[in-house]
Amino acid sequence: MKAINPFTGELIREYQTLSKPEIDRKLETSQEAFLNWKTLSYGVRAAYLMRVAEALELKSRQLAELMAAEMGKPLKAGMGEIEKCALVCRYYARHAEEFLKPEAVDTGASLSYIAFQPLGVILAVMPWNFPFWQSFRFLAPGLMAGNTAVLKHASNVPGCALAIEEILRDAGLPQGVFQTLLVKSTEVEEIIKNPIIKAVTLTGSTGAGMKVAGQAASLLKKAVLELGGSDPYIVLEDADIELAAAKCAESRLINTGQSCIAAKRFIVVEQVAESFTASFKRKMAAKQPGDPMDENTEIGPMATVELRDELHAQIQKSIEAGAVCILGGKIEQGSHALYPPTILTKVKKGMPAYDEEMFGPVASVIVVKDEDEAIRVANDTVFGLGSAVFTEDLQRGSRIAERMIDAGCCFINDYVRSIPELPFGGIKQSGYGRELGVYGIKEFVNVKTIYRP
Ligand code: NDP
Repeated sequence: MKAINPFTGELIREYQTLSKPEIDRKLETSQEAFLNWKTLSYGVRAAYLMRVAEALELKSRQLAELMAAEMGKPLKAGMGEIEKCALVCRYYARHAEEFLKPEAVDTGASLSYIAFQPLGVILAVMPWNFPFWQSFRFLAPGLMAGNTAVLKHASNVPGCALAIEEILRDAGLPQGVFQTLLVKSTEVEEIIKNPIIKAVTLTGSTGAGMKVAGQAASLLKKAVLELGGSDPYIVLEDADIELAAAKCAESRLINTGQSCIAAKRFIVVEQVAESFTASFKRKMAAKQPGDPMDENTEIGPMATVELRDELHAQIQKSIEAGAVCILGGKIEQGSHALYPPTILTKVKKGMPAYDEEMFGPVASVIVVKDEDEAIRVANDTVFGLGSAVFTEDLQRGSRIAERMIDAGCCFINDYVRSIPELPFGGIKQSGYGRELGVYGIKEFVNVKTIYRP
């Protein structure tokens, strides 16, 4: 497994992947750890998670440098990501017991209630775009619920994968409660087949999600899937255009556009299309990608040259089909994985910029007649992850958000982000199940009925 710096193109380090017997031994260690970990009180588990939060904060800069080197995230954003990981550890350390406390149910019996019991060893397959946050978003609730976990991280961030294991170990967690498995994706099926694995969570592309979900389902193992998105952002004629343009640009460029919940399709009512596009273009153009190790850089390179090239091909195909590029859209010679903020207008169905997920700093602007057409276009996608609507009429915003858009969440006059207190996840080809909040911690538990006549 090779870690390659996407800004310089240099090989950082090569890592040896695990052999089959090594994988099996690690899974057995996780199972042994589970037998003890599940018996600990919430208070004891919470104390461990609190120590993990402190360890993350202490190493924040070092971990941000690792992300910058392996996948190009600028330092400031990397430190923000680590802070958010500490936050989610503390959140579940404080709330897990309350979320999972037994629930009495009146059935007329002398005793009837629901208890929430851990399942066992959970496999987490995680992506490179938020290498720490995506992992901690699963592991904080997972471990607090009494499960143990093994992580198969993306192949381009092996250093981050090992750093997560090290943080938990340094925070004193019992051996085997959390382990990283340095393996290729071709090993995942065998790991799922191991009876020790009780469930799987995957964050990544829809293709990977379908494969892993199929493998898990064939063995009747539960899966939670956080997959791709092509989030629609609707800008209505009564929107605050400056605010909408600022939020849209900020969201589109989160993590150099490599976020499942980045704004991707901008569906603008024709009355305000010109003013929105002009303001949006200024804001997108103001951010140019640079060295992620530089404290002042706001957007870095894309994570790999291959991902950059795939994105460029999607843009080229869209232009050939009639889209107009009004900003960016060019690869500079020798620029490694840098790609400039790009805007495509006149985007129509049948173009990759309309039909596919664009996982980079590229905005698709689609002009529509009115609210009805905006909603129709917003829902005209195989995805259903996040969405947003911009309007000064808050009742109108709530109506559209709650009842009209097919997505796991809809933000009004703001951009979508994941927040520890709120459930996060999608519908359609964006996956199923939820992470975060009270729903997230209940995904990997046995909802157990206890009854005595
Ligand atoms: P992938 O889905 O390829 O990778 C995500 C994780 O899944 C990695 O750990 C990867 O391992 C693993 N994986 C990939 N294929 C399989 C498989 N067949 N069986 C088991 N595990 C597998 O994402 P990409 O790196 O290709 O990222 C690009 C796309 O992924 C984007 O277009 C976006 O849709 C989606 N994505 C979504 C994210 C989200 O937050 N919802 C985050 C990141 C990506 P390995 O690296 O070894 O292949």
